[in-house]
Amino acid sequence: MQETRPPARRAAAQVRALRAMLPRALRAPGTRARFMRAGLKPGALRTPDDLAAIPILRKGDLPALQEQAPPFADLLGLPLGRLARVYLSPGPILDPEGDVPDYWRFARALTAAGFRKGDLVQNTFAYHLTPAGMMLDAGLRRIGCVVLPAGVGNTETQADLLRRLPVAGYAGTPAFLLTLLEKARERGADPRRDLRLRVALVSGGILSESLRKTLREDFGVTVRQAYATADLGCVAYECAAQAGMHLDEAVFVQVCDPRTGCPVPDGEPGEVVATALNPVYPLIRFGTGDLSVLDRARCSCGRTAPRLTRILGRVDEVPKIRGMFVHPRQVEEALSTFPGVARFQMVVSHRDHDDVLTLKVVVTGPATPGLADQIALVLREKVKLRATVEVVEAAALPEGAKKVVDLRKWD
Ligand SMILES: [Zn+2]
Repeated sequence: MQETRPPARRAAAQVRALRAMLPRALRAPGTRARFMRAGLKPGALRTPDDLAAIPILRKGDLPALQEQAPPFADLLGLPLGRLARVYLSPGPILDPEGDVPDYWRFARALTAAGFRKGDLVQNTFAYHLTPAGMMLDAGLRRIGCVVLPAGVGNTETQADLLRRLPVAGYAGTPAFLLTLLEKARERGADPRRDLRLRVALVSGGILSESLRKTLREDFGVTVRQAYATADLGCVAYECAAQAGMHLDEAVFVQVCDPRTGCPVPDGEPGEVVATALNPVYPLIRFGTGDLSVLDRARCSCGRTAPRLTRILGRVDEVPKIRGMFVHPRQVEEALSTFPGVARFQMVVSHRDHDDVLTLKVVVTGPATPGLADQIALVLREKVKLRATVEVVEAAALPEGAKKVVDLRKWD
């Protein structure tokens, strides 16, 4: 089984796949130009890590690149006439679909999430223009699930279908799953008695642990998540351990510093940069713009692929403090051990050529003595960040205030 092979065997297989893909990838003028500009000879590639010499191809640059060299920025690995479908996803970015079963590789993610042959699955991802609906549809069909192609919206109809049909699985965003289940209950269904729904694979939205718990405890649905993009297909997916998302076998992922393009040490946040081992659309060093952390520790499920701990947000919305991205959500998690903290604000400034973080917090009720120091300690342990913590009056930090204020001047 590929998912449980020793990491060294996976690495060797990925090198072989990369080498096998390169001749076709380099027939695409866009890819050839990138290799030439980087001064990289394809024959000199020993490991996928050698690709780091090639500057990141940014997802945010694709709309302009596709406009300059329509339709696929000269990056397609085969003639357009041999594709199965073409999509337009937000950006706007055109996405090709190759003519192979489960092109987007969702079968593994669905199996890891508990979907089984014969399950009836309500797929609420959009089927029009964007590939999300077909991505899941193809994976579900690959493992023998029966698909109800529900698409987005029609909440009442969809809630009724959950009851009328023995729907066992859900695919869609986490928020819409909750909406549907609440609507079904509002329309008279007892979720545990009248519904058969037991598994869900969610993507395209933040799945908080509290939402996961509600869906499990109130509605009896086990929810797992996957990380995918319209360009790459499935990149990573959760297993039963629910401790991060295992990287898919067909993508080579580096977590990189977006400014330098170099991989960051394991455990530090950086941009997810992926090379798709996909001869149809061989994207090399593709910068997703999503921020995550790579974890190579062994997983109790037996899968040996490294995991992305979670998606922290977009690279361009997250401050970098002393060379490290610090997402407000990381701070929020660290603060969750202090029930009295109502809200916070990260203020980043510059002093003597060093970044300084001041964390302002508002507490409900009187502040306990030493609270600021305790918070600073937890931040240092959990986020690896030195910060000055200030407990401020509620009026000084109104509700809805920005989570991050960056006072540094970039010149
Ligand atoms: Zn696992």
